[in-house]
Amino acid sequence: MATDANCIFCKIIAGKIPSKKLYETDKTFAFLDIGPIAPKHCLVIPKYHGAKLTDIPDEHLQELLPIAKKLAKASGAEQYNILQNNGRLAHQQVDHVHFHMIPKPSEESGLVIGWPTQ
Ligand code: 5GP
Repeated sequence: MATDANCIFCKIIAGKIPSKKLYETDKTFAFLDIGPIAPKHCLVIPKYHGAKLTDIPDEHLQELLPIAKKLAKASGAEQYNILQNNGRLAHQQVDHVHFHMIPKPSEESGLVIGWPTQ
């Protein structure tokens, strides 16, 4: 498994930096974003380190979207964005591939309780 000792997300995966973990498999880790732009804004990342999508072998990418979808459903939001930035011009700040799941809560969406608070 490729890792980078200087990468903030690799440190989160390793438990060296605390995070609010939501989901984990042998290949994937999901946690709350530290600077949420909406309640339950979370990140889904491969444990395999790479800055851009093209740096990650396909077998380490396959779970990301299904898990983001699962978290969107668990958030209770009926509407949400799933997005993934590659490169500074594309607004990528952390050089470890990640998918954002950003709920668009509405009064009708019936957000579930039981998630960790921000
Ligand atoms: P990007 O702009 O690279 O697509 O998004 C990076 C995201 O990572 C940002 O939304 C930012 O709030 C989040 N982030 C950066 N550092 C940390 C951290 O140490 N912990 C957590 N949970 N999220 C972080």
